Amino acid sequence: MKKSLKRQLTLSHLMLSIFSILLIIILTNYILERQFRNYVINNINNKTIGILNSVKEEYKDGKWDIKSIESIGVSALENGMILKLVDKNGRVVWDAHLHNSGQCQNILDHYSKIMMKRYPNFNGGYREEIKKIYSNEEFIANLYIGYYGPYYYTDNDIMFLNTLNGVSIVVSVLTILFAYLFGSLISKRIATPIMKVSNSTNLLSQGIFKSLEYKSEILEIDELIRAINTLSKKLDEQEKLRKRLTQDISHELRTPITTIKSHVEAMIDGIWQPTEDRLRSCLEEIERLNKLIGEIKLLAEYEIEDRIEKKEVNLKDLIKSIALNFEKNLMDKGLVLETYLEDVILYADKNKIAQVVINLLSNAIKYSKDSGKIYIEVKGKSDGVYIKIKDDGIGIPKKDLPYIFERFYRVDQSRNKETGGAGIGLSIVKRIIKMHNGEISVNSELNKGTEFTIKLPYK
Ligand code: ADP
Repeated sequence: MKKSLKRQLTLSHLMLSIFSILLIIILTNYILERQFRNYVINNINNKTIGILNSVKEEYKDGKWDIKSIESIGVSALENGMILKLVDKNGRVVWDAHLHNSGQCQNILDHYSKIMMKRYPNFNGGYREEIKKIYSNEEFIANLYIGYYGPYYYTDNDIMFLNTLNGVSIVVSVLTILFAYLFGSLISKRIATPIMKVSNSTNLLSQGIFKSLEYKSEILEIDELIRAINTLSKKLDEQEKLRKRLTQDISHELRTPITTIKSHVEAMIDGIWQPTEDRLRSCLEEIERLNKLIGEIKLLAEYEIEDRIEKKEVNLKDLIKSIALNFEKNLMDKGLVLETYLEDVILYADKNKIAQVVINLLSNAIKYSKDSGKIYIEVKGKSDGVYIKIKDDGIGIPKKDLPYIFERFYRVDQSRNKETGGAGIGLSIVKRIIKMHNGEISVNSELNKGTEFTIKLPYK
């Protein structure tokens, strides 16, 4: 079964915290218990040494201070130690059992109960240590120190251990609670924007291109939102472009087809004789149509495709080789081509830049008067590369200048008839320049000439 991201994240937080808690509890319990046991055993040893020393001090001038011994014995008894002092002659000086036999038994039972409760398999029982007491290196007595052994926990020790366990439990519960809270909080922070992105992409797939206005606090998700918005914008542009292009193309195709259709119909209906002239006129229209389709194909390629393959381009070499290809066209019209080409290296799409120069140069030739002059200039400046293509041809009327880069825009049909242009060349030029983050501008005066200036960034 698939789980939601929110559930997965919360669950993983919980599992992680439970695992860490268990690990900490097991390790600390094991280490702590061992350390604590050593501490308790040391404590018992220290206590016996302390009792021995105290008892030793109560032997003065060959006599035992019974009262003091008794107070030592009583205090030891309260701490779980059962004392018996027997002098060198085997005479009992003080015996806890004789002092209070019931209390001795109670104490042993008490500690046995404590230890069995904590460690049900505890192998414990009454132990007795015999300490020899010397005075001036002369043996004077045996001190019997009995207790529940091998070691025992006092009530305070048990209280300490219980407090420790209690703290562990509280810390564990709080950790699990916080893990759950943080887990669900973080998962909510991640899951919410992802859900929004997912909804937005669903809309995209339905053709609804809306940008997602959501600011996430997570960098990667912010990047994802930005990428989705860019994608949406691009798809939107492409969709609009596709619609516009289809409309424009069908509009452009309709005129020549209608002409051919009416001519052919007139000939079939016998209104017109199918003379060579009329058939030739139909053929011209078909040829125009064919050329138009070729140009439309080119336009579609450039309009829809926005991939550019950049590499180093030597503009001087590129323009020289293009100019060479136009030599015949120039000669046919008796045009002179002048150039000023600086050695500029550009990082750009060579084929596309070549297409720009070809379109502008062929226009300059097309719209030049016979024996005119065309000038191409390339200059590398600090802010970019400047390409200028200038002619002294028929020029463009002021009113048309703002539209010449639009698809299928021709200045006037009469001059178009002669040149056969479909109004596509400049829109391709503009598109390529835009793809390179460059700029193009035009200066033109009717009957004086036209000058196109392109500015391209080096990279
Ligand atoms: P076309 O294929 O018709 O030449 P373009 O997009 O290249 O299409 O150009 C659009 C219009 O701009 C042309 O119809 C033409 O009238 C005008 N034009 C372009 N370049 C020049 C030029 N160098 N001199 C005069 N007119 C030009």
